[in-house]
Amino acid sequence: MSYFLPNKPQGRLIIVAYRLPFKIEEKNGQTKMVQNSGGLVSAVLSLTKGPNSTLFAPHQKCQWIGFGDSEFSAADQRDLQTEDFVAHPVFLDKQIQENYYEGFCNNLLWPLCHYFPSLARFEDRYYQAYHVANEAIFSRLVQVIRPGDVVWVHDYQLMLLPAMVRARFPEQKIGFFFHIPFPSFEVFRLLPVSWRKSLIDGVLGADLIGFHTNDYAEYFLKTAWLVSGYNNKLHYIHIENRVAKADAFPISIDFEKFAGAYSDPEIGLARLEIKKALPFKIIFSVDRLDYSKGIIHRLRGFRQFLHNCPEWHGRISLVMVVVPSRDTIEQYQQMKSEIDQTVGTINADFGSINWQPVIYQYRSMTFTELSAMYTASDVALVTPVRDGMNLVCKEYVASRADGKGVLILSEMAGAAAELGEALIINPLDAQDTAEAIRTALVMPEPEQAKRMQLMRDRIRDYDVFTWTADFFAQMNMLDMEQNRLRQTYLNDSSTKLIRSAYESSSRRILFFDYDGTLAPIVPDPASAFMPEEIKTLIRRISERDTTVIVSGRDRGFLDRQFHGFKIGMIAEHGALVKDLDQQQWRLNENCDMDWKQSVLPILQTYVQRCPGAFVEDKETSLAWHYRNVEDELYATRRAQELLWQLKIYLQPDLNLQILDGNKVLEIKKTDFNKGTSARAFLESGPYDFILAIGDDVTDEDLFRAMPESAFTIKVGDDMSLARYHIKNQGGVSQLLAVLARGNDQLN
Ligand code: UDP
Repeated sequence: MSYFLPNKPQGRLIIVAYRLPFKIEEKNGQTKMVQNSGGLVSAVLSLTKGPNSTLFAPHQKCQWIGFGDSEFSAADQRDLQTEDFVAHPVFLDKQIQENYYEGFCNNLLWPLCHYFPSLARFEDRYYQAYHVANEAIFSRLVQVIRPGDVVWVHDYQLMLLPAMVRARFPEQKIGFFFHIPFPSFEVFRLLPVSWRKSLIDGVLGADLIGFHTNDYAEYFLKTAWLVSGYNNKLHYIHIENRVAKADAFPISIDFEKFAGAYSDPEIGLARLEIKKALPFKIIFSVDRLDYSKGIIHRLRGFRQFLHNCPEWHGRISLVMVVVPSRDTIEQYQQMKSEIDQTVGTINADFGSINWQPVIYQYRSMTFTELSAMYTASDVALVTPVRDGMNLVCKEYVASRADGKGVLILSEMAGAAAELGEALIINPLDAQDTAEAIRTALVMPEPEQAKRMQLMRDRIRDYDVFTWTADFFAQMNMLDMEQNRLRQTYLNDSSTKLIRSAYESSSRRILFFDYDGTLAPIVPDPASAFMPEEIKTLIRRISERDTTVIVSGRDRGFLDRQFHGFKIGMIAEHGALVKDLDQQQWRLNENCDMDWKQSVLPILQTYVQRCPGAFVEDKETSLAWHYRNVEDELYATRRAQELLWQLKIYLQPDLNLQILDGNKVLEIKKTDFNKGTSARAFLESGPYDFILAIGDDVTDEDLFRAMPESAFTIKVGDDMSLARYHIKNQGGVSQLLAVLARGNDQLN
């Protein structure tokens, strides 16, 4: 993975997460921090230390801000560092902490994002505490942050933080990673309106927003649009004068650590002991106690297997380790009792004096124990009903350096998107799980090895180090994009450049879009007129230079607006052209209109479904406008639905395209566009000064058709092929005035 380094990095990496990655140990009256050995910590270290460390200023420790407990409050800040990290603990009042973490995070966001809305509790005090906690972290960050630092915020506990940082430090580089599933809009919308908006706006304060899978990123993009009105293209979100990006970065593991475990002598010994104690096929599962992990569903599937396959009785065991978690919460205690009971029933119903079908442990495991179990078992059974990623399945695969073993994996785990060679199951379907267990137990070894190798290669290629490297490579690319955007706004020096090119040229051609460029966008398209000032300037320019209006409008409208001008015109996105000399409209030769009869009824249905929308039947196209619909959000959703239906319905041989414009969907033939028609004008050259200005997506065709030497200008902030941007339609007249003045001097 290569990095893009726009400048020599000046800053440090600041990680902000709920937890600090250390334990405090006391030895001989002295406190000492001990670093966790988890994958995230080593991945972060690979960014600030080692071969990939060119991203940050050299010899700078990683700063880590998170909530601290009583151990931390007792320690002196000077002790709160290791060789690699400096910890900045934040402390909360006990009540706030409870309402924030147990409340908003684990009683609301966690169940909602894991599709358990019935377990979600919507309490005002939770939300207030969530705010206070995010602000407390922000206050600490303000003390730590220095110019040039990069802030990387983690997870659902800190969704408000990126916007707080953005408001105080507008130029700050901020990354955000969401470690749990981002749910579909239909689930996210269950949150009260103001809460969901502040969460989404909060996250959108970041430059780059990472999720485990493409689905989660898509759900987020859709939610950002429907909740906060920010549209997106190809994962890029336009937020006023900057661009954010939401994309998938599947978190992974330290592959080599797990792969190497197979040949570790201590682990080898532990594996032998397990095999001695359980001299038959072993199915293994391990997860935290949580309703999202599908532990009960797993037991149901296993029970079904025992019921279906008596021939396996006495020849297999399910070793199920559940790691204690949140078991002070009543829901979790109930879940544990249910698990205890179900295990008991299965063992009682199917077991014998000599054989226990389920060997159940409620405890945590050391790395040696875990690796020994991973490498000793014939099957890993991973059955979450919802899981952001699930690392256990990746660890199992990485551990199998011997190429043996079968992974059974729930389709509801984020990892399923990467591990297609596993036996993929629906954990809610006990029969499906039972069948997969049977298949796994009889799978021939060459087949196991083939599947394992494909999965291992993939995880080796995209391990946790690649994950961080990928995230920061994208951060840097985005940073370059932000810089480009910042630089491309037309300023004094670029205006001067255009003016001097204009004045030193002898044959000029200028293309102008109409709506949003020469005339402001207004609710009624029939009354979108050019301000007098612009009209005068265009007249002056057109008297000397070849001037072409390039519009989606019909010819009648353009004729009325430019009556008496010596001007070329392109109407209906290139379907109709009026040359400067002939002063007669001609229809593009590829224009047949038979297709309209089949599309018009669909558009009319959507007018009935969306009061305020209307159809404009143009000479060569059909437009479905929704600028007059009162409920903008509703209209936007209807427009997307219509777009989707049209895409499915339109036959490829009709050669139609749908333009997703500014509050309008327009359907037309693909054979021409603003660019192809503008090219015909260019060919009447040669021109030594070419300029094109437009604001809509359809103007991208115009920009694309221009030669490299042309001055192309986009009105608005949206990303564009144009060389320059002008902030809004009001700014166009200033540029026209500069050109018209040049014009006067030339005369
Ligand atoms: N794990 C652990 N202690 C144990 C057993 C497992 O820390 O006793 C680790 C395991 O190796 C894995 C992580 O816990 O790295 C579980 O990650 P996963 O994504 O599967 O689930 P999560 O608990 O994060 O939802």
